[in-house]
Amino acid sequence: MRIVLISTPIGYLGSGKGGGVELTLNSLVSGLLSLGHLVEVIAPKNSKLYKGNEKAKLHLVEGEDQISWQHQNYNSSVSIPDNSLLAGMLEKGLDVAKKADILLNMSYDWLPIWMTLNVDIPIAHIISMGSESSVISNLISKVYSKYPYNFAFHSKIQADDYSFIRKPTIIGNGFKMDNYTFQDTVNGPLAWVGRVAPEKGLEDAVFVANELGEKLNVWGVVEDETYASKIEKSFPQGIINWMGFLSTNELQKELGKCRVLINTPKWNEAYGNVIVEALACGVPVVAYRRGGPGEIIKHGQTGYLTDPDDKKKLLSYVEIIGNIERKNCRKWVEKNASTDIFAIKVVNWLNKIMKEYK
Ligand code: UDP
Repeated sequence: MRIVLISTPIGYLGSGKGGGVELTLNSLVSGLLSLGHLVEVIAPKNSKLYKGNEKAKLHLVEGEDQISWQHQNYNSSVSIPDNSLLAGMLEKGLDVAKKADILLNMSYDWLPIWMTLNVDIPIAHIISMGSESSVISNLISKVYSKYPYNFAFHSKIQADDYSFIRKPTIIGNGFKMDNYTFQDTVNGPLAWVGRVAPEKGLEDAVFVANELGEKLNVWGVVEDETYASKIEKSFPQGIINWMGFLSTNELQKELGKCRVLINTPKWNEAYGNVIVEALACGVPVVAYRRGGPGEIIKHGQTGYLTDPDDKKKLLSYVEIIGNIERKNCRKWVEKNASTDIFAIKVVNWLNKIMKEYK
């Protein structure tokens, strides 16, 4: 199959601004290449694909980023800046796709979804967020009534946000196992990983660290400085160890030394890549049962789940995290979320869409 992938119009690949989509795209490219498919990627200028993905042709496009939808009001209108990166990537994508079988869009935005109804080439969409915008949800609903197969979701609970989707295609996500080393360290520090932004609930993990009188290692892009400094001010000084944004390789080395990952989403997390990355290193996860984490974590086997926002319960599970066998965590990822498993699910889905266009 000849597949053209369109990346997120927020940040270049490697910047961290694109969140989980950056890793998802790279995992998908690895999986598709290993299955023998031809892959081309349209991405913002300065983007780099992971080592091993060199066989995929990368087309770089310059332009202005979109504003992320999770930081706009639910009823905001669509805005497209002058010299739009998204429009530029789509133009390039359509041109390259003349010789391809399908365009696979990974940006959560209005324009590529709208194009599904207005161009001849099949466009498939991996929806990377829950319903964050009325205008996008309404458009998905409209396109879905003509092309019911063209949307895929990372988790069932994410898809539930789009109540009009009757039988959602769930593709999970994929992780290249070679990129993560299993570490059997049981007495390491506490970890938190993610974009530092209100929907990620960092403050609840700091609460747990504070109660335990320990530091919390925090990795990720500080997307919202005001939010970060507000949290810092509401707890004793020095409790947060700001570790910055690291490449996957550097991150997994450090994360693997930790005894637990605390995951505290305040929104319907579509999936939660960082959870699976921790598990791949052997690090169990304690999380709120909200969005993807509730489907990924096996309570009592690979970590623990609590009712959303129950910080005290979160704390009590962190206290007994030593009961989790770290090897079980790694095993779960190998069996359920490798790049090959992920790519096979995606290819089956794309085949179904292509039939629809014949
Ligand atoms: N990440 C990273 N380096 C860091 C911290 C985070 O590469 O230092 C990546 C991580 O690998 C994951 C992404 O940031 O792929 C966060 O994705 P997730 O699905 O957890 O949340 P999102 O940001 O998409 O809401």
